[in-house]
Amino acid sequence: RIAYVNGRYVPQREASVNVEDRGYQFGDGVYEVIHVHDGRFVDTGLHLARLARSLRELAIPKPMEDGALLVVLREVVRRNRIREGIVYMQVSRGVARRDHAFPRDVAPALVVTARHGKAFPREIDTWTGTAITAPDIRWGRVDIKTVNLLPNCLAKQKAREAGAYEAILIDRDGNVTEGSSTTVWAVDEDGVLRTRHLDHHILPGCTRAAVISLMEEAGIRFEERGLSEAELRAAREIFLTSATSYVKPMVRLDGVAVGEGTPGPVARRLFELFARHADGAAHN
Ligand code: PLP
Repeated sequence: RIAYVNGRYVPQREASVNVEDRGYQFGDGVYEVIHVHDGRFVDTGLHLARLARSLRELAIPKPMEDGALLVVLREVVRRNRIREGIVYMQVSRGVARRDHAFPRDVAPALVVTARHGKAFPREIDTWTGTAITAPDIRWGRVDIKTVNLLPNCLAKQKAREAGAYEAILIDRDGNVTEGSSTTVWAVDEDGVLRTRHLDHHILPGCTRAAVISLMEEAGIRFEERGLSEAELRAAREIFLTSATSYVKPMVRLDGVAVGEGTPGPVARRLFELFARHADGAAHN
């Protein structure tokens, strides 16, 4: 595997960052994951816009312009011969003598890696999973896609130990925020499709944005209105979205069947729309 590290393409096992990289010492960095389908990126514009926003929010300069970054992303994908998989990019504030306050005149550090993944699932019935609930113990600016993922890792590990795919996070007020690495959607007891509104307490998912556009085009109704834990447990359908989960139905929550315990009609419809959208991206 080949990685890109600060201007050079290097074998990944030899790739390394400085011990005083602020991403390593303080988690002072941001990242993006883009799905590669049929050798092309899905929702590139959304991901690059979110990366730019994350950098802006933390006052980290862009390591390079979007056009140049795309060239690097494509080159890493090409050198690793990825047709289906992901590309990962991480930007840290850079290398400086350890001090909490920002260093002056330090160039941001950019690392890009890619890896093979399974092809986009074609059958939603083979693409189901289960979820547990876990407390959301993250900080107050999770809308910035930083590499500070320890609470997310703890929640995902809890899910794995329970044999589940995802941990759905519940905040201190008893409301659903999002999954440990996914956006949460549910069809409530009244049949209304809902996902939480955007603010500082969830990551603005690119797949969420893409799915919303697809629904608007198709005239599918939904509400940007969060759910309480009780509403989640009473939901007819629960599904997740992310660049690597696509549209993924959760058929059990904390061991209890969601609805009929099979993918529901809304998830099915969105899965089909998103699959077509991802295929479309591959033919741009
Ligand atoms: N929420 C969190 C906490 C995430 O880490 C992710 C993706 O990594 C998402 C939501 C989904 O975002 P996207 O659809 O852009 O992959």
